[in-house]
Amino acid sequence: MNILVIEDDPSVRTLVKAVLEHNGNDVSTADNATDGESTAINDDYDMIILDLGLPDGDGYEVCKNIRGKNVTTPVLILSGEQETDVKVKCLKVGADDYLTKPFNTEELIARMDAIKRRSEASGDQQLVCGELKVDMLKREVTVNGEKTQLTNNEFNLLVYFMKNRNRVISQEELAEKVWDIHFDTQTNYINVYISYLRKKIREHTDVDYVETIRKKGFLFRCD
Ligand code: CA
Repeated sequence: MNILVIEDDPSVRTLVKAVLEHNGNDVSTADNATDGESTAINDDYDMIILDLGLPDGDGYEVCKNIRGKNVTTPVLILSGEQETDVKVKCLKVGADDYLTKPFNTEELIARMDAIKRRSEASGDQQLVCGELKVDMLKREVTVNGEKTQLTNNEFNLLVYFMKNRNRVISQEELAEKVWDIHFDTQTNYINVYISYLRKKIREHTDVDYVETIRKKGFLFRCD
């Protein structure tokens, strides 16, 4: 991982940097709030370790400001403050976890691994293709930023298409994987659902995502 450590205490900074590098990470450091904040906003990191008491400001403000700039990098706060309200305040402005000093370096690594797992898992909760966005947790679909109401069948169909983008999918496959039934050539319901889905998407965009491939099935295009 590429990690930014914002910490003014040289002994803690050196220790954290050494431990993280020993674990195979690339580590950049900042020793004040101003530099830390601008580095966090301008460069791309996989995680930020942030001290609360900095000489020119508060780590809490740094976290709040970078979230305000839409930086979604996970933030782990390191602080000597033990009070619950300080921890709650940090989590509320978008920190992902909080570790109290003095800390055990093994706990630091374990907490970072846990944050990483959580952020990777939440990445799977959103599917994006061009103007289409699906929030799997909320079961919400937006096209060009506008919400569109899909029925369960249409939603499941869209999710299957998005997960299997850019390849031809047969009606048989859709019947089995989306509806969990054996395909019956006498029914036309898959075509009907696809036309509903197409129509709802086309209300918000000119792009036709679902292409019919004659005699073969459908292709969901996403570059
Ligand atoms: Ca400090």
